[in-house]
Amino acid sequence: MNGLKVNLHITERCNYKCKYCFAHFDGQRDLSLEQWKKIIDNVKLSGMVSAINFAGGEPMLYKNFSNLLSYAKSSGFELSLISNGSLLLNEKIAPDEMFADLSMLGISIDSFDEKILIALGCCDGSHKTLSEEKLIAVVNRAEKINPSIKIKINTVVSRLNVGEKLIGLERKISIDRWKFLKIKPFDNKIFSNKNLLIGNEEFSEFLERNRRNDGDSIPEQTTERSYIIIDNRGNLLDNFGDSYEIVGNLLEESFGAVFGRYNFDSELYQSRYA
Ligand code: SF4
Repeated sequence: MNGLKVNLHITERCNYKCKYCFAHFDGQRDLSLEQWKKIIDNVKLSGMVSAINFAGGEPMLYKNFSNLLSYAKSSGFELSLISNGSLLLNEKIAPDEMFADLSMLGISIDSFDEKILIALGCCDGSHKTLSEEKLIAVVNRAEKINPSIKIKINTVVSRLNVGEKLIGLERKISIDRWKFLKIKPFDNKIFSNKNLLIGNEEFSEFLERNRRNDGDSIPEQTTERSYIIIDNRGNLLDNFGDSYEIVGNLLEESFGAVFGRYNFDSELYQSRYA
């Protein structure tokens, strides 16, 4: 299969502690810039991948993020980023060139109710959350630097925000895609989000309440085996069930060889990215 998008979870570090977070890998140190460049070369050589999404943790906390992004750009990939948004107004951490290199900027928004966000752990160590005003400022900055950038919002629907009504935000900023993701069960024996899980009916009610009239809003029940995830050590992971298994490491083997052993669900993948 060609034209794939891979998700590089370049760091596990995050300034938030979201209780639903599934980005808990092995807690080991992040790879160096040179190692990530090798992985990008490996992926490029396969000829199977056209797009890279940078994720984490919070990718802005990866020390050499800007350099890595421009390397991936010069390698010819279409680039996107998913961030909690908290550091995107900081010009040292998020320089203008970074926005210029991105085709899509994704920001996670689960609520604008501070109490809900703090209860969810979607805040930094001083309980600072991403306010609606700050989100608008981030989007304005990104669009000023790169007028063709697309904006995506990801909302994870869990026990704590299932009663939310977020719709209306699209009248304040342009949102090209809005994904509503049903919380993914995660349990690696150290971390579990079981008490935040919701049922299909509750998810449907949430979607009904947050239905957009004027744009894409995409419900997502599962990403199992249709989200190509590479962890902060360069392992391609099989994200099946409520945990992960390592399929292979991209510093040791070619992307094609590792991907060939992955039980990829191409049908679900195509429906997710359609
Ligand atoms: S912002 Fe993202 S990476 Fe950080 S804790 Fe929340 S879900 Fe996890």
